[in-house]
Amino acid sequence: MDFTEGSALGVFSCELCELSSPYSFYGQKPPNTRAMVLLEECYGMKDPFSPEREKFLVLGSKCSLCNKTVCVGTDCSLFYTKRFCLPCVRDHLHQFPEQVQNEVLRKKSVQKMSSP
Ligand SMILES: [Zn+2]
Ligand SMILES: [Zn+2]
Repeated sequence: MDFTEGSALGVFSCELCELSSPYSFYGQKPPNTRAMVLLEECYGMKDPFSPEREKFLVLGSKCSLCNKTVCVGTDCSLFYTKRFCLPCVRDHLHQFPEQVQNEVLRKKSVQKMSSP
């Protein structure tokens, strides 16, 4: 991978899956964007596939409960007013609204069904 372009601050790596990628900002406001403020502090990088300067990718964030660094992949975390890693969501499932509970439970059953 080419690290020379842009100014990577370091390498983001998810503690739950194998995802790792250089990131170029951390915080709630990506650089080179005018009015964009994110809902959470997160790791992000400029979208390498877009010629637009304002396009960026959110790689991940910190779980607000256990402080683990997790990616935004739906198998690793979910965002409900704050970022939560899935293990924490499962531990505190009853504290989340039904809609979130259903989503997490559905994920489990989908995984089971995918292996016949
Ligand atoms: Zn992950
Ligand atoms: Zn967590």
